[in-house]
Amino acid sequence: TPSPGPSSWSSESSDSDASWEAFYRVVLLGDPGVGKTSLASLFAEKQDRDLQEQLGENVYERTLTVDGEDTTLVVVDTWEAENLGDSWSHELCLQVGSAYVIVYSIADRGSFESASELRIQLRRTHQADHVPIILVGNKADLARCREVSVEEGRACAVVFDCKFIETSAALQHNVAELFEGVVRQLRLRRRGSST
Ligand code: GDP
Repeated sequence: TPSPGPSSWSSESSDSDASWEAFYRVVLLGDPGVGKTSLASLFAEKQDRDLQEQLGENVYERTLTVDGEDTTLVVVDTWEAENLGDSWSHELCLQVGSAYVIVYSIADRGSFESASELRIQLRRTHQADHVPIILVGNKADLARCREVSVEEGRACAVVFDCKFIETSAALQHNVAELFEGVVRQLRLRRRGSST
């Protein structure tokens, strides 16, 4: 059976006896060219075509088993899709995430500075709720063109109060770890806020 798409997860659950599954929407943010689509494509690698058509362009869904538990992530890569239609806008992107992945390129200082601005915008849209945010320094393979050190990235994440990881979509390095980290952050959040 097809898994429910993002439009149906909030409403009725099926009468199946399948184990309880959580759905989370993860929004990718960051400057053009930093590697958001590359990361999303790696995430979505084994997704079937029917499901892809259901979800639409730039949205990917996959169930990950992390620490023995299944969690479904719906990864949204629509930050730059605003000109394709008005269903997605920056404002909407900043609002709909259960978690956010802010991507910069370690070879592009400007994209690192944009990441700070995005964090500030997120703080504005999510004042009360403490949504998980992961700061990602992508293109870690471009060592010779590096403009942002690992230490800077890490320090920035401390100031931002978020997690940090360097990845290389080109080498498929740390990409699985990134999305597993997102799942773990979401679970911590879920358990910490059961009021
Ligand atoms: P987006 O605009 O943020 O979605 O970025 P894309 O995923 O379209 O990537 C922009 C360009 O950077 C493409 O040419 C990718 O092949 C390249 N790219 C993405 N990730 C990496 C990486 O980890 N290392 C290197 N060297 N290039 C990458």
